[in-house]
Amino acid sequence: MINLDIKDANVVVMGLGRFGGGIAVTRWLVGRGARVTVTDMAPADKLADSVAQLAGLPVTFHLGGHDTADLEGCDLLVVSPAVPKDKSDFVQQAIARDIPLSSEMNLFIQHCPARRIVGITGSAGKSTTTAMLGAILAAAELAGTLRRIWVGGNIGCSLLDELENLAADDIVVLELSSFQLDDLARLKWSPSRAVITNIKPNHLDRHGTFEAYADAKMNIVRFQRPEDVVFVHGCDEELAERVVRVGAASRLARYEFDPYFRQYIQVPGRHNQNNAAAAVAVARELGVDDACIAQGLAGFVGLPHRLEFVAERAGVRYYNDSKSTTPESTQIAVEAFEKPPVVMVGGGDKGMPFDTLARLLAERAKATVCYGATGPALYDLVCGYLDAGERAGRAALVAGDFAAAVHKAAEFARPGDVVVLSPACTSYDMFINYEQRGDAFREAVLGLAE
Ligand code: ADP
Repeated sequence: MINLDIKDANVVVMGLGRFGGGIAVTRWLVGRGARVTVTDMAPADKLADSVAQLAGLPVTFHLGGHDTADLEGCDLLVVSPAVPKDKSDFVQQAIARDIPLSSEMNLFIQHCPARRIVGITGSAGKSTTTAMLGAILAAAELAGTLRRIWVGGNIGCSLLDELENLAADDIVVLELSSFQLDDLARLKWSPSRAVITNIKPNHLDRHGTFEAYADAKMNIVRFQRPEDVVFVHGCDEELAERVVRVGAASRLARYEFDPYFRQYIQVPGRHNQNNAAAAVAVARELGVDDACIAQGLAGFVGLPHRLEFVAERAGVRYYNDSKSTTPESTQIAVEAFEKPPVVMVGGGDKGMPFDTLARLLAERAKATVCYGATGPALYDLVCGYLDAGERAGRAALVAGDFAAAVHKAAEFARPGDVVVLSPACTSYDMFINYEQRGDAFREAVLGLAE
């Protein structure tokens, strides 16, 4: 545990990034009287937005690379979870000089007064489960049955700036990535309530082996106290065994989906039922009643761009799953709807194999609209399976702009149908990022006749 007085300390923040964590920690450190140097591999023009958010603060910037001269007299190195510490010369030099390492999340945990902290990790479903639980607890807060609740972490919101508003009886819900958990292990800290949604091979580029990755996730229970709880799905024996192997058997709470809540869940798919099951289990353990749980679930329409319900037009429901940039996530989207959906696929090529997805689309989609750089290849594959008589679905290739593809999808749909944008590809062929692609979808949908 680092017991460092931040006031007047020389702190280097490594990795400003474009998503907020580096900005929040820099602001917080400056606010507490530290002398802060911010360094990032990316050059200033790529980080212009982030740098602008720190305008006016007494911060020294060293962008476009790291200079070990910044480690002279450095009292603390705050590293972004995106930096692979083993492979970074700069971090290794800091370690060799006995400079303590920290992170935005570690600093938050060291200063957070709340006794009840829910930590949510897993390979998939972290953000959704975190946001769902947040919605349920917010309903309980509104009903006056819970103290204030706070949601943050990897979901994209730093709570450092809120520290002074946090009280001991508040409840904090944190999405924790495996990289953040790696860092937290240095504090020998685990949350009082831990949720592990699932563990599948992921981020093996950073963690090396599946075992190393799964082991990093176990940091969420490794340092729990005997009275703490870890939530694992009732069907996930492998994960439960892993939890038992790190000595957490007596804290293990297995949860199942309670079909009573099905009527309230707005987000489609079995995977979202699993996410809801986890959120409900934690909420109940925190003492939230079923009426507030139902209300919270009913108000949760999904995170932006992840199977998010956009609107109904002419009896057709439109869903935005622009965050899907891999064939696997589009497979989940295609299977999430009871009735065969009309699916929009295509975009930038990152060399992913589409064969399994194309087969599923031919078998299960009412129609597939292929567009963008990978459109022709996807179209050929889907048509191949359709011609082979797998199913009487339809497919279309749209060479025009994105709005034309949305219109084509609308043509295929009849009242009662679903249209889902789930590209399985990057957005870079037509858009700056997946958010912009999702926004373009929303705009085109809202422009369709009611
Ligand atoms: P994460 O925060 O872990 O990346 P998200 O909640 O943002 O996960 O969901 C991202 C995608 O992961 C979803 O669009 C869906 O394809 C898939 N997913 C979500 N929840 C689950 C789950 N419980 N099991 C399997 N896949 C899931």
